[in-house]
Amino acid sequence: MKKKAINTSRTPVYRDAGFDLYNAEMASEAFSRENDPEREPDLYIYSRYRNPTVVAAEEEIMKLEESEWALLTQSGMSAIDTAVSIFHRGRETRPWLFFSEIYGGTITFAETILKQHRGLDIHSFSPKDEKYDLLSFESIVKSLQPEFVYIEAISNPMLIVPDVRTIIGIARKYGSKIIADNTFATPLLWKPLNDGADLVIHSATKYFSGHGNITAGVICGNDNYLMKAALNYRKYTGHMISADDAYRLHDQIQTLELRFNRQCINASMIASLLAGSEKIGKVWYPELAKHPTHNEASMLFGDKGFGGMVTFDFAGDTPEQKRSGRDQFIRLVEGKIRLIPSLGDPKTIILPVESVWGVKYPEPGMLRLSAGFENTGDLKDTIVSALNSIV
Ligand code: PLP
Repeated sequence: MKKKAINTSRTPVYRDAGFDLYNAEMASEAFSRENDPEREPDLYIYSRYRNPTVVAAEEEIMKLEESEWALLTQSGMSAIDTAVSIFHRGRETRPWLFFSEIYGGTITFAETILKQHRGLDIHSFSPKDEKYDLLSFESIVKSLQPEFVYIEAISNPMLIVPDVRTIIGIARKYGSKIIADNTFATPLLWKPLNDGADLVIHSATKYFSGHGNITAGVICGNDNYLMKAALNYRKYTGHMISADDAYRLHDQIQTLELRFNRQCINASMIASLLAGSEKIGKVWYPELAKHPTHNEASMLFGDKGFGGMVTFDFAGDTPEQKRSGRDQFIRLVEGKIRLIPSLGDPKTIILPVESVWGVKYPEPGMLRLSAGFENTGDLKDTIVSALNSIV
């Protein structure tokens, strides 16, 4: 009896580990076209290779990043591992250059797994006074000739926005590829591939999921050769996302624009409240004219917003006074703003910078805040009342 098609508007969760290939001829066809992106869905082979539910979610992300392809992985870290590892060509590998103000996990991954375990020639480029000097960047790229340059559009936790278009231009001039981690900016603020980046990665755990309930990552690109290399790497390292997670991510991405716009509005509101309070020392938010890369951010993002992250510290003449402001604030917002080490969640969350980064950042008492998409007025009341109560 012929199976009836179900008139569903969405791709269901295909939990099959392996797919029915019917006969030897079909099996040969499936395996011989394994890396073919145009393969028909009835030739799915094995879910670790490719899965229809995952492909449906990937197509949604391709629309957002305006990319030719997207590959979902089980975490942001596995997306990063995939994106960089496809440039590893044994002893022929040229140096890899990472901007220093990027996600701490990426830095540790580069210093331990890439440098110590794999013996790769890893370099780091640091800003001076919270700004990257692009003249010295050019001279480093010229002498190092790196295989790729790894950047983030909004850094963590100082929220530095480098002049990414100039950086991409310099990298391309010397034959280096560009990998951009676009987690903080999201494609709603910037689409790196349209500006000449070669690969874009996301921790989809953050804004793409937006509900703090999925761990996932994604790599996007336009180059078919890089796609095949990434597909192969994901397949043989087992970095593949599950169909269940891809299904939920697909659903949650539908509201990205609604959520992220509100998060930018809430972050902007919080940044201006904090900037006007005598209880606060310094505020880092790229929209503020005082932010060291305000001009770069305005040029890149235009009127689209400045992201959902705000970093700030507390007033005080001594480190103890600043930490006391921080600790009071954490206590005063308890139950409304939680201390969760993530970002992009529905509710506003905070993270004490010193507890995570130690002495890397000089201001004790710094808090990194990820604005949620809760009611702006309620959030404002919570923050104002906490600031008023700090002694
Ligand atoms: N990239 C950025 C900018 C991040 O903030 C994170 C995690 O916080 C990652 C990558 C790693 O992502 P995941 O935790 O999903 O592995």
